[in-house]
Order: sequence, then structure tokens, then C-alpha cells
Amino acid sequence: MDEILSNLNEAQRSAVERIDGPLLILAGAGSGKTKTITTRLAYLLDQVGIPAGNTLTLTFTNKAAKEMRERAMGLITQNSYPPLLCTFHKFGLLFLKFHIHLLGRANNFVVIDTDDKKKIIKKINADLPTALIASEISRYKNSLIDPEEAYAQAELTNYKHIAKIYEEYEAYLLKNNLVDFDDLLCLTYKLLDENPDLCAQTSEKYRYIMIDEYQDTNELQLRLLQKLCTTHNNLCVVGDDDQSIYGWRGAHVRNILEFDQDFADAMVVKLEHNYRSTQPILTVANALIEHNRSRLGKTLIATKTGGDEVQTITSNDESEESQKIAKAIKELISKGVRPNEIAVLYRINALSRSLEEGLNRTGVAYKLVGGLRFYDRAEIKDLISYLRVITNVHDNFSLKRIINKPKRGLGKATIDKIELSSIEAGKSMFEFISTLSDSDLEGLVRKKSAGELRDFVAEILELRRVSEEAIYRFIDLLEERFKIKETLKGLPDEAEKIANVDEFYGLFRDYVKQNPEASLAEFLNDITLQSEQDQVEGESIYIMSIHASKGLEFEHLFVIGLEEGFLPLIGDGSDLEEERRLGYVAITRAKSNLTLSNVNSRFYKGRRTDLQKSRFINEAGLCEGSLILEKNTSYKKGDLVRHKIFGAGRVEGVSKAGREFKLSINFGGNKRDILASFVEKL
Ligand code: ATP
Ligand code: MG
Repeated sequence: MDEILSNLNEAQRSAVERIDGPLLILAGAGSGKTKTITTRLAYLLDQVGIPAGNTLTLTFTNKAAKEMRERAMGLITQNSYPPLLCTFHKFGLLFLKFHIHLLGRANNFVVIDTDDKKKIIKKINADLPTALIASEISRYKNSLIDPEEAYAQAELTNYKHIAKIYEEYEAYLLKNNLVDFDDLLCLTYKLLDENPDLCAQTSEKYRYIMIDEYQDTNELQLRLLQKLCTTHNNLCVVGDDDQSIYGWRGAHVRNILEFDQDFADAMVVKLEHNYRSTQPILTVANALIEHNRSRLGKTLIATKTGGDEVQTITSNDESEESQKIAKAIKELISKGVRPNEIAVLYRINALSRSLEEGLNRTGVAYKLVGGLRFYDRAEIKDLISYLRVITNVHDNFSLKRIINKPKRGLGKATIDKIELSSIEAGKSMFEFISTLSDSDLEGLVRKKSAGELRDFVAEILELRRVSEEAIYRFIDLLEERFKIKETLKGLPDEAEKIANVDEFYGLFRDYVKQNPEASLAEFLNDITLQSEQDQVEGESIYIMSIHASKGLEFEHLFVIGLEEGFLPLIGDGSDLEEERRLGYVAITRAKSNLTLSNVNSRFYKGRRTDLQKSRFINEAGLCEGSLILEKNTSYKKGDLVRHKIFGAGRVEGVSKAGREFKLSINFGGNKRDILASFVEKL
């Protein structure tokens, strides 16, 4: 039998061998969905003889794409060049590079990130909340609604206003040749939709398409896939309705549920065996997700035998929680567990702070995936702006960020004046400055600044030339000319900032070494696309949000913040079933050990709040038999206990209160009834 297929079970094999026509692999976490499509890709290339260039495999994060590429390439023995296996957005980027000219735009466009997007919006409008406008614009783009339609649809004045801002925002992007994340997909769709020949050609090229994590696709992605399948129907998607966690971004579980309506004659394969987690972990995961009403309903059967019970720990506050977890992790490492087999997950990024403190104090090395990303740091954004201006001198947005860095004596008023005059002259700011006569420039800014601006223009042009002719010399010249590291001296966190700049330079040199043909613009677009997950490498434990952990697996897993209000997160627009799916995603990342942690109070948004244990602990069947209960039942009359506020006291009675135990405690003459989980035994 084929080597490639020998590691698969029968259902997985049938999915691999079905080459033509639409195929949906619908299965729970850890059942080998990703393994099946990576094997399928290898099978197509290695056994069927499909040229790598005729396949397209898409997923959602760069980290997942990288892992899939490694898995697939590990199976391929034929000498084939690597197939295109990337994120949806990266595919869009590559496509636009080749075809954006059909929209009358140059292909040296720059991809902006969310932060840039917000800055542009803020510039256009200062009244309505920026985050709201940013998400509305994103929603419009993902529903293929242009500003005009948005305006026509809007009933409330505020929404008319947002539609106008959207219009200005689009004009700004066009003028500066910028492209936002949503554009990567919606412009790609637009090109395919408006150019039937191109659409047929592209579809012919990608004759075999595979998609991982299909439950997280939205309507735009579905429509894009339909375009890509114009000339064939060879689309294989895998997903799990229980793991749909991007509803807030417009993802539709319906894409999975109605797959056979979107793609006729679809075959459905279900996988029921879980190869990742032990039975106790799966029992907890199954029990939790069963509380959701809108689901297809499937349970996972473990193939691993034995396994430790799921642990729950309760702490008084976040510092105690992080201390306990750090200690447990340290013990695991001292027993020989490899750090990168350990992860701590949380629902919201804000919880990472106390966790980091605990890990630092205990000396556990960790990688924070997400949070303030490397590329979001001010000094790195400055550098990126330099690079952007060098690739595209008309990029006013980036120019303004660096025109006075290092200081050239230009205040905000002067910069505004330059911008205004450049608009009047119908030029970009850079063009405007470089074409002004000395006397005109000195009429606009102080004499000293005028000289410095002249130098700035000359240096940018020189660097541009070097980037085109001898890119390996580029980064050293950049530092030499602009002395970026020197400008950071004396700032708070100087050492860290300089280290970050060095890290960026190192990254650049590495990139040039690995992609000697690449241009500066390609480097820029690649780094903008790198998702949060890309920071995961090397030997340290990982801490990350549940969203970032999708598709990954860890031998030992801790999930913190299992409190009402945190998981489930309760707030505007929160959806309890989606929260429960997040809980399910978190739990099913664990291979052999899982610990769920909650606290009695947490410091959050500037104040300390008392918290209830998450209902999910209960729903997962973890109240009885858990550590907490063992702690409760062990109380008896006469025990000495300590309470966080009331201090030491003696137990005078024990009674049951719901699933917990209530203790009557005498605190030096003061009698109080208190739940057992709120005291510590002495
Ligand atoms: P998720 O829903 O979390 O993305 P998944 O369904 O994609 O999970 P995989 O990551 O492909 O699952 O597989 C989970 C684990 O099970 C991996 O370690 C994989 O190597 C292993 N596995 C999958 N199928 C088999 C099999 N037939 N035999 C042995 N191990 C398998
Ligand atoms: Mg997977």
C-alpha cells in the first residue's frame, strides 16, 4: 500500500483518495482533519502526479500554514517545487501583485495594518469612535458593499456619517496606493468577478483547492472560493462547527452546514476518533459543548488510553493564580518536559500581564503570542515607515511619521503647512519638498529645517537606489544615514528599544539572505502579513489567547480566567454559544494534562472585582471530584482556617450550599457563614 496513506484510518483514507468533486470533512477537534488534508496534498502531488502549481491550500494563520507545509513536504518524495500553501490573505496579496493593474492601480501598493487603518480613520473623523468605524468599514468590505451602497442603506444619521467616512477612507487608500487587510480579499474577488477570462484562467490554474478551518470562513471567502472553482469543483474543505470562533468577524457556520448547497454533489466524510487527547480531557470537552443548542452534534472517542483527570485550581487573586501556575510549570520542566510542550491560554489579552509577572518571578521563560506584537512597537513602526517611504516616496502617511524623526525642527503646524501646500500644488509631500526652490522652502520652514529637509530628500533617494541595486548594503546604510539607534538614547526602555531595532535589522538581513531576489516592497508586505502566531519558535513555554491557539496542540495545558465575565466573556454583543465554543477549542488543545484555573477576585480595568467561578466548569462536569470539592469535603468542626479579609478562624459547622460547602466560622468571636472555597485550611 502507499506509504503516504499507511498512517491514516479508513475514513481519512477515503477522503484522501477522493480526488475530484467537492468534499467536506466534518469532524471534531483532534480527529486528524489537518493531517488528512496535508496527506491529501502530498498524495495529489506524489501519487496522482498533479503538478504542485495546480494546487492551492489555504488556512487562516501563518503558523498553521507553516506547520501544514512541513507536514506535507515531509511526506512528498518526488522532486516537486513547493505547492502554494498559505493564508487567505497571503493568497490575495500574491494575486493582487499580478493583477491589480486591471483596476488601474500600480503593483507597488503597500499593505497597511489595523493600527494604520485606525490612524487614517481618526484623521478623517474625530467624532465617532474609531474602533466602531473601523469594524463597520470591515463589515462593509466583507459584504462587498461599496461606500455608495453603504450610504443608500444607512437609515440612522450616524450610519450615513460612517458611510461618508468610508468613502473618504477609500479615496485616501487609493490616492496613497494603500491596501488594507480586507482589500486583499475583496479586491481579489472584484478582479475575478469583473474579468471572466482571468477568473477562468485562475480557476484552471488552481484545479485542486483545499481549505483548513472552513468553519471560520465568511461570506466573502465563500464567494471567492466559488470564483476559484468556476471551471471545476475540486474543492476539499475541512472544519468543525463546534470550533467556529470568528462569528464576530462575520464567519458563518452556515458555510459548513450548507456546503452541499454551495457546491453540488458534495461528499461528506466524518471522522470520529480523536488522536490528540486522553479520555478524561475529551469527556470534559464533550460535556461542555453539549450545552450548545445550535450544533450538528458529534462526540469524540479517544484512541489514547488512560490519562490523568482534568485539574481545577481556585486562587484568591490573579497573583496567587500566576504563582501557582508558574510553580506547576517549573516542576514539569524539572521533570524533563520540554518547555514548548507547555502552554497557558486566556480568553482576553489583558490577563497575560499578571501571568507574565508570575512567570518572570519564577524564572520560567515564555513566549507571548499576540499582545503588543513586535511590529506594533513604536520604534519598529518608525523603521517600517522609513522603508515604506523609500519604496514609495508618495506615501504621505508614512512620511509624516518620520519626517521629524530624528528631529529636524519641524513641529506639527509646519508639517501641516507642508501637507496643505503640497495638496494645493497637486503633489505628494515628498515630491513637493523635492521640487521647491531653496527660497520657497525657506519661506515655508525655518532655514535650518530647510537644509535638513534637503538632506532628508537626498538620503531617501540614495537609499532607494541602493535598495534597488545592492539590497544587502541597504540596512547598514539606513542606520548610518538616519542614526535611528542614537535617537532612541535617553528614552524610557532605551535598551529594549535598541535591542528591538537590532532584531529588526537582523530580520531584514536574514530575509535578504533567504530571498536574494526579493525587493524592499516584498519584504514590507511579507512582514505586514505575519500574523501574531509567527512569534512561536524555540524552547520556551507559550502563552497566548484562545483565538491564537486554534489548530495547535500541547502536551500540558493551563487555561486561566475561568470566571463569569471572563470566560464566558459577557459584554456588548457577546454570544454565549460562541464563548462555549471558545472553551471547547481551549480544552481540546490539550494532549495529556489539562488544568483549568479560576480566581475569587481579579484586578481589571482599574479596580478589583469579586468573581464567580465560570459556569463552564460546572457544565464540563468538573465540580464534583475536582480539587475544590476535595478541599471542601475535608473540612470538619474544629479546623483552623484563614480568610483573606477576616483572618484566622475556627470552623464550627459544615453544611451543603448548592454544589459547594458552607462553613460556619468563628473569627475571634465574630461568627460568619462562608463558602469553603473562600478560605484556606491552616
Ligand atoms: P483541530 O480541530 O484542533 O484543528 P485536527 O482535526 O486538525 O484538529 P490534527 O491536528 O490533524 O487534528 O491531528 C491531531 C493529532 O492526531 C495530531 O498529533 C496528529 O498527528 C494525530 N493523528 C491524526 N490522525 C491520526 C491517525 N490516523 N493515526 C495516528 N495519529 C493521528
Ligand atoms: Mg486542524
